[in-house]
Amino acid sequence: MPILEKLAQPSQARHWTDSIPLEYHYTAGVAGEEFRRELRDNGRFLVSKCSKCKNTYIPARMYCPDCFIEMKDQFPIDMPGYVYSFTSVNRNRSGSDTDSPIMVCLVKFEGVKGGIVHLINMDDPNRVSIGMKVTPSLRNQSERTGAITDIIAFIPISTGPSKVTSGEGKAKTQDAEAGKIQARSLLHSIEESGYPIEVDEMTISSLRSKIGKGELLTREEDRLLRGLGDKAREWRKAVKSSSETEPDDTLSG
Ligand SMILES: [Zn+2]
Repeated sequence: MPILEKLAQPSQARHWTDSIPLEYHYTAGVAGEEFRRELRDNGRFLVSKCSKCKNTYIPARMYCPDCFIEMKDQFPIDMPGYVYSFTSVNRNRSGSDTDSPIMVCLVKFEGVKGGIVHLINMDDPNRVSIGMKVTPSLRNQSERTGAITDIIAFIPISTGPSKVTSGEGKAKTQDAEAGKIQARSLLHSIEESGYPIEVDEMTISSLRSKIGKGELLTREEDRLLRGLGDKAREWRKAVKSSSETEPDDTLSG
């Protein structure tokens, strides 16, 4: 049938099957990329603050949805989130039943608009409650790619105001467990950063041994570890920015 031939009868129509290769690229946008970079490099959530209405948004975004102005103030937050809502999913993407229910939650942060939808990891899904405080459990830094799956899941650090079944003992154990996980991941990122730890070798080795044995850090040790984490982070940033500027210097010099 020539291409311009008109059909007089619907029955004259023919069809054939083939495929057209299509590729999609989704960009996270300027602020979205910053958010992902901060998550990948420092394991923290980046937020944007509006200079006019003073609202803060997670994930970081470029424009304030209320004031329509650019938000130039971006900073990472370092606080636990809380379960704003949750549901359990019993089927996977292909529609077949999962072995056990998968808990999904919307996590919000005090004083911050927006939130993050992700998995919540609990031994007993019946104990998830609104308001429960959670912290992200992240992949090791070397495995992070800047995807939202760099977060393995959120894990509870204590039960929130609406706790029903969990006793105080259980909540304390969860706190301790979350603390140990955080300490382990922080120590790992310090060791990976290349930060010269010689000066703090005594502190580091005592922390390493406690964390290795799965012991809980004291408040003072926790403070030391966090301090070292900050130093390592600064170190990584400095190394990165000097490696970025070096080629230019060489050319101009
Ligand atoms: Zn605003």
